[in-house]
Amino acid sequence: MDDLEELYNEIIMEHSMNSYNKKNLDSCDFCEMGHNPNCGDEIKLEIKLNGDIIEDMAFTGHGCAISQSSTSVMIDVLKGKTIKEAKDVIKTFIDMIKREITDESKLEKLEEAIAFRNISNMPARVKCALLAWHTMEDLLEKNSK
Ligand code: ZN
Repeated sequence: MDDLEELYNEIIMEHSMNSYNKKNLDSCDFCEMGHNPNCGDEIKLEIKLNGDIIEDMAFTGHGCAISQSSTSVMIDVLKGKTIKEAKDVIKTFIDMIKREITDESKLEKLEEAIAFRNISNMPARVKCALLAWHTMEDLLEKNSK
């Protein structure tokens, strides 16, 4: 294992063990459930908007370390972004996992979420890593025009 992989694993472990994003919001504008039957992962995302900015986000749920940490990292990355920016980041993450990114510089916008890039080597874990991102994509599709 090289240093970079070790760093990635640390990010994933940190978010799965002790996520400050795992809670209910006092008030939320939208929420969306996500479910990955392959692994038994379940999450509920809660979003608070201020205009078209994602002012606050949180999640509840249970499942494997990958699904829970991916959700938490996604929240850190998307909080404070506009809906348009968030959609772009989500698409970039999904493309990264599918290995459809050829321009490495595009991955910069993923911030800590780049830690999940090696998940594409573990096909059984791909759905776990993508659960939150697909759920957020659905939420934004349904609730924004
Ligand atoms: Zn899982």
